[in-house]
Amino acid sequence: MSALPACPKCQSEYTYEDGALYVCPECAHEWSPQAAASSDEAAKVYRDSAGNVLQDGDTVTVIKDLKLKGSGGVIKMGTKVKGIRLVDSDHDIDCKIDGFGPMSLKSEFVKKV
Ligand SMILES: [Zn+2]
Repeated sequence: MSALPACPKCQSEYTYEDGALYVCPECAHEWSPQAAASSDEAAKVYRDSAGNVLQDGDTVTVIKDLKLKGSGGVIKMGTKVKGIRLVDSDHDIDCKIDGFGPMSLKSEFVKKV
């Protein structure tokens, strides 16, 4: 039985130790045991406008008209966005919107479907 934790990214159980780091052979994720130990507190939780927890791959709708810088286009309220990807930045949702292409949104302007 292995004492090593599963990969926090892909849940692989084939974690191995490489010096001070844990390494996942399946997705190449590397992390430190210290970070893993406190991950419950440190992990960023992404919430939509209603306080629902968002996860990669979720489908959300836009809750207000969002003007696009530069192009002059507007993403209309109610636009459905499939397969979001959460990122650690000011605009914390990476996604693709039909008719607009790749886009970054703020989680406070969407609602989970
Ligand atoms: Zn992994």
